[in-house]
Order: sequence, then structure tokens, then C-alpha cells
Amino acid sequence: MRHLAADVLVIGAGAAGMYAAIAAAGQGAQVLLAERSLIGRGGATVMAQMTVAAAVGEAAPDHWQHHLADTLAAGRFLCDEALARLLCEEGVEVIKQIDAWKVGWARTPDGRMAQVHAPGHDRPRCVYVDFLATGTAVSRTLRTQLNRQGAVRRVGDLVVTDLVRRGGAVVGAVAWHLASGDVVTIAAKSTVIATGGLTRLYRRNSASANMGGDGYALALRAGAPLIDMEFVQFFPIGHLAPRLVGMDPIMWDPFRYKLGGRLLNRDGEELTQRYGVAEDGRYVATRDVATYAIAKEVEAGRGSPAGGAYLSFEHVPEARLREAFGPVIDRLAANGIDLTRMPVEVAPIAHYHMGGIRADAAMATAIPGLFAAGEAVGGANGANRLSGNAITEALAFGRRAGLSAAAHAARSREVDWSREAAADAVALLRDSAPARDRPNVAAMLAMLQDVMQDEVGPFRTQAKLASALARIAALRRDLGDRPFGSGGAYDAERLDWLDLRCMLAVAEVVARTALARTESRGAHQREDFPAMRPDWAVNQVVTLRDGAVALARESVRAASLQAVAV
Ligand SMILES: Cc1cc2nc3c(=O)[nH]c(=O)nc-3n(C[C@H](O)[C@H](O)[C@H](O)COP(=O)(O)OP(=O)(O)OC[C@H]3O[C@@H](n4cnc5c(N)ncnc54)[C@H](O)[C@@H]3O)c2cc1C
Repeated sequence: MRHLAADVLVIGAGAAGMYAAIAAAGQGAQVLLAERSLIGRGGATVMAQMTVAAAVGEAAPDHWQHHLADTLAAGRFLCDEALARLLCEEGVEVIKQIDAWKVGWARTPDGRMAQVHAPGHDRPRCVYVDFLATGTAVSRTLRTQLNRQGAVRRVGDLVVTDLVRRGGAVVGAVAWHLASGDVVTIAAKSTVIATGGLTRLYRRNSASANMGGDGYALALRAGAPLIDMEFVQFFPIGHLAPRLVGMDPIMWDPFRYKLGGRLLNRDGEELTQRYGVAEDGRYVATRDVATYAIAKEVEAGRGSPAGGAYLSFEHVPEARLREAFGPVIDRLAANGIDLTRMPVEVAPIAHYHMGGIRADAAMATAIPGLFAAGEAVGGANGANRLSGNAITEALAFGRRAGLSAAAHAARSREVDWSREAAADAVALLRDSAPARDRPNVAAMLAMLQDVMQDEVGPFRTQAKLASALARIAALRRDLGDRPFGSGGAYDAERLDWLDLRCMLAVAEVVARTALARTESRGAHQREDFPAMRPDWAVNQVVTLRDGAVALARESVRAASLQAVAV
């Protein structure tokens, strides 16, 4: 067993975790950045291809308050206003900061940042890096900055499996080192969860294998409340057909912005029109509306052959297509896709999680010593997120969490670590269920994804959710409480067991909160309660009590805009 120590432990090296580490180290803290995959390459950040929203006002006059107004409107009265404000206000600074760090935002001929108009924003507000390189550029830029910070120790292949609590505070974590099979304990004065979202819970998703909601489960088990867990955002136009190899399934969005791709049903009718939004190639329907429209058209038998909608650029002149798609047009051609002659088929896929760990505007959770950042945090986007807000959120929240965690560490003279406090979590990693008792954990994981897709997807009913909860409980019984596999290096069975342990805990919370919310709002659509109800303009907050999920309704935090304590 190995033991490490740091002032600040950051779990997860996406945009939020890397920025948190950079900011904390900038304050003089010794930082340990723990990542279950490769640093800067494990989660959503590096996969993002599109746009990042910030009121930098380069394409049109703008102010963060306009961005805030749009974010609150999209959130359907559920946004934590202090968090939404942080995203919009400090979003401007972080976007300019990483511009100064040479991220390479696309620019207009006169040298201003290019900004496109995305649905739900009142003006062109989204910056990007051409072509489809936004996330890789953000990730590379932060990795370069990390390399300049001597005070950040980076450890990849390190799966954090539990937080360690002592005297009511989080004092570090226990982890499993994939590459060696070693159990690792980490003492830290402050811990930041920056583990991203949960979309791997679903069969159709835009996620990497590292996005099974670990951070939510870690927080819950450590006693920290979660918020808005029922709000999973489905991205309406995930690629469906024809087969597309080596490209991101959500790649179509930026081209819809730029060129006004038309979303059509089987009969060639513009699809969102029936659902109250006439787009006419302008791409103005927000994600929840477009998801609803596609699902309903498919249900009515007006979907495309593979079970989605058509996305057509056939009306766009070839020269404009070439200019907008750049080298991507050749990659499409290699897949047999000629956009001048054919539409593609698209359908909703699980893409982002609005819910998450409850944090204040300093990114502090209810548990002393525990902070959160990025998609792991819930509340800023309420019931529905605007395009481009997620990377801004990761950067702004990451920076804030790093500053707060460093300040907390500076105030704590010594970390209150003890081996006894970590003993249960260590014992779990050393344990092994007898081989004869072990069901196929990979098959169980796929089964959970089916349950979530079919019964806790974009359209929910009481019956489906109750069935999902029963099936999740059965999977939990089968999983048991002793890990499978021997725990040696790269033990895939053990990794699946550890992943499924988190995924089942988080899936239960999503299904329970979805069952309790008897209305439809934003990304949470109940077919048996189709209207939005004023009495449901409240957040659901989840905690674990004696191992059982406990729900409470709380008033939405308005913009009392707490002073940020750093
Ligand atoms: C395909 C795709 C495209 C997207 N496009 C856009 C876009 O154009 N614009 C936009 O604003 N948003 C976009 N999003 C959303 C956005 O990318 C994410 O919300 C954001 O990048 C999240 O950043 P993060 O740092 O919070 O998490 P991530 O970038 O997901 O990083 C989390 C990290 O934590 C690690 N981790 C997880 N669990 C553990 C553990 N137990 N121990 C150690 N490490 C752990 C993961 O391996 C991962 O590296 C997109 C998302 C996807 C999936």
C-alpha cells in the first residue's frame, strides 16, 4: 500500500480539475491531481468539439447579465442564481485567460474572437476553435499550464474509490492504482471533486468510459448532499445513421449553427414546427424542445428509418459546405456521406447532467474540507443547460474551487488523517468475492444502461420509474458488497465492479428524484404529468441516511449572491 499527502487533492483532470489544480498551486498549495485515466484526456472536456459561451462581447455588444438572464430562463426557475452568476460573470475572465494562454479561439478577419449564436442565447455568444477542436484545444492549453506548475503532482490511472472522513470533515481519499493494482491512501487538507458527469449510465450516450458518476457517489457516501439529480440532458441530434467511424456522435451541432441544417421528419416536414418552434433552418429550438419533437415524431411513425430524424444540409451550396466543414468534409466522404445529396439521421443521446453535488459560490460543499467543480456540481443550469455553458462552468468553477481549496488548506495547520478512518475503504479494495458467486459484471453494467435508457430516459412515467428502481435494486443485490476480481494490475472485472457500485448508487438517485417530481420541466419530462407546475419550482436535495436515499424539497436559492469567501 502507498500513502501520499497534499494540501489539496483534486480528483479528476478535465477542465475543472486541471483549472482547480492550476489555481490552487498558484496560491502556493501543494497539489495532487488524481485521474483515473490519462491527465486531461479521460472525460468530456477533451471530447467537446463545439462552442463555449461567454459574454466577451466581441461579435456583438454583450454583458454577463444578459448571459445570466438567458441561463436562468433556460433553467426553468430552478437555477441556483449564485452559481449561475459565477458561471456567467467569471466565465468572461476564464475565457479571456485561456485566450491569453493561447487556446486559439477562432477569430474574425479583424482579429476579434468569432462568436456564433446558439439556441437559447439572445445574441452571438459562443466562441470555438476550428474545426471541431474546441475541447482538445482547451485540454491541451490547461495541460501546458499544468506543466508549468511545479507544485502539481499528477497521477494517472488512479481511481478514487472513497473519500475519508474524520471528525465530520473530509481528510483525503482512498484509491486503486489501475496500472499496479496498489491500494493508495491520500491525506489532504482540502479535496476537490472534479469527476464530471454521469451519462455513461445510459445506453446511448456521448460519454467516455470514465463518466459513470463516480463523484456523485463519492460525495453521497461522504455525507454531502446532491441536487437536481433528475435532470439529465439529452442531446437531440446525436449521430444515428449511416455508420460514422472515428467521429464524435454530437459533431453536427456546430454545423447546424453555422449553416442552419434542417431537422426533418420522414415526410420532409420541419420537425419542431409541430411543437411550437418554427426554425426554418435557423436552429433556435433549445435541446429539450428538439429532443421532445424528435421522440414524438418517431412515436407517431414519422421518424427516419433508423428511428430518429433527418438532418439535412442539402439546401446549402457546396462551396459554403466546404468552407464551413473544412477538413471534416473529407472525413465524412470517407464514411460515404455526401451532404450535398443526402441527409443524415440523428436522435437524442444522454449528454450532460444538470444535477450534481450541492456547492455554494465558493464551491464548498456542506462537508468541511470538501469542494466540487465542473459538471460534478449541480444547480447552476437548473432544469436545462444552454449550449456552451458546460465548458465555461468547468473553467469558472474549477478556478473558484482551486482558490477556495487552497485558502482552506492554508487555514488548516495539519491534516487530521488517521489510518483507522481509511480502514473500511482500504479493506474493501483488499477484499474479493469468492469466484463461484460472481455474476458477469460487464453484462450487469450493460443491463443497467438499458434500464436507464428505456425507463429513466427523456420521457418518464410512474410505471417505468418504479420498474427501473426495482431492477436497480436487483442489480445491487447481485453486485453484493465484496469486489469481484483479484485486484491485480488492470483487473477489468474489478474496475467494472467498482464502476457499477457507483453507477447503481447514482442511478437510484436519478430514478428516485424523477419519480418524486410529478411534473414536466426542462429535461425532466413525465408523460403522466405533462405540465410544469408552479408548486414544483423547488429543488430536490438528496442525502444518504443510514445507507438509504433521503429526498427533501428546498426553495431555489435566489441571488442573495453570497460573498465569496476566499
Ligand atoms: C462529446 C461531448 C461534447 C461536448 N461538447 C461541448 C461543447 O461543445 N461545449 C460545452 O460547453 N460543453 C460540451 N460538452 C460538455 C462539457 O464538455 C463537459 O460538461 C465539461 O467538459 C466537463 O468538464 P469537467 O472537468 O467537469 O469533467 P470531465 O472533462 O468529464 O473530466 C472529469 C475527469 O474525472 C475523471 N474521473 C472520473 N471519476 C474519477 C475517479 N473516481 N477517480 C479519478 N478520476 C476520475 C475522468 O476520467 C475525467 O478525466 C460536451 C460533452 C461531451 C461528452
